[in-house]
Amino acid sequence: MSNDFKNLVDGIRKSKNISKEELYRIFSCNEEEKEYLFSVARSVSDNIFHKEIYLRGLIEFTNYCRNDCYYCGIRCSNKNVERYRLSKEEILECCNIGEKLGFKTFVLQGGEDFSYSDDDMCDIISEIRKNHKECAITLSIGERTRESYKRFFDAGANRYLLRHETANSEHYNKLHPDNLSLENRKRCLYDLKEIGYQVGCGIMVGSPFQTIDNIYEDIEFMKELKPHMIGIGPFISHKDTPFKDEEDGSVDRTLLILSILRIIFPRVLLPATTALGTKDPLGREKGILAGANVLMPNLSPGDVRKKYMLYDGKICTGEEAAECIRCLQTRVEKIGYHVAFVRGDHPDFI
Ligand code: SAH
Repeated sequence: MSNDFKNLVDGIRKSKNISKEELYRIFSCNEEEKEYLFSVARSVSDNIFHKEIYLRGLIEFTNYCRNDCYYCGIRCSNKNVERYRLSKEEILECCNIGEKLGFKTFVLQGGEDFSYSDDDMCDIISEIRKNHKECAITLSIGERTRESYKRFFDAGANRYLLRHETANSEHYNKLHPDNLSLENRKRCLYDLKEIGYQVGCGIMVGSPFQTIDNIYEDIEFMKELKPHMIGIGPFISHKDTPFKDEEDGSVDRTLLILSILRIIFPRVLLPATTALGTKDPLGREKGILAGANVLMPNLSPGDVRKKYMLYDGKICTGEEAAECIRCLQTRVEKIGYHVAFVRGDHPDFI
């Protein structure tokens, strides 16, 4: 391998910075260079997380959505979706099952479904908080007002996932209808941070019209926001969306971006996503070996999993939560890592 590439990667590690030219260079690297990049990302990650992989139990509690994002399978104009909502009791039951399995973080994710009012959400959050005092509660329910975010936080929520999807507003407008804006998405992220949440942003790799320059802008935006978590996975087309004929994002490029993010943001919480595992049967393992340190197994009740189809072919829609955990534990151990049954807060929050 050329010294140039080695110096380039070592330079990124030292400066925690990457230029546009360096990003282009990394996207054209050969197998040997890729292995070097991944090994550096791994050593950064292992130094901080000591080969521990954190688990988040994902509860997909509603697939109703008021939005019509062009990429998403549960967009409101998709009439082929069988819609569902989980009741407060059903959500609490998921958490009880999760706690017995060793989860210390619950992620409530859903479409933007305002039939759960702020009062309803606060009621659900505070009830989970009461029953599971030591657990972290993560929300991923899209854009709401700053006041709503504050109320959820005061009710006991600790973390919020809201992918920015792309930091370029022209690109943003090619992925979303006119009523949605990058400006508001960013406003939400900054509000969430100010309120005191651990905040996650993120992108789909290879979303339609995405350029390398866009990815560079995403990294610049992340440097400004300083998120605690970054969720990235390949774009995967869904048959009932305007992007049904668009090409999927690549696993290779996703892994390269994961490793760059690990090197630039050493302490960030970085999941190896279900989308990565969907595009490649060993995608999540490869993600961990490129610097990821979080897995988000599904805790949703078996009968709703197939209805929360953001993209075609989503894995783990047949198994029960207990099976998912066993399967992931075996996979993680096989590559020399282990699942840690801890909350897994960002180091700044410990
Ligand atoms: N309504 C919430 C949750 C959205 S689903 C919100 O607005 O944040 C979580 C993430 O799934 C999205 O942010 C998006 O990045 C990803 N996603 C949606 N459709 C996808 C697709 N077709 N392929 C890959 N990822 C997708």
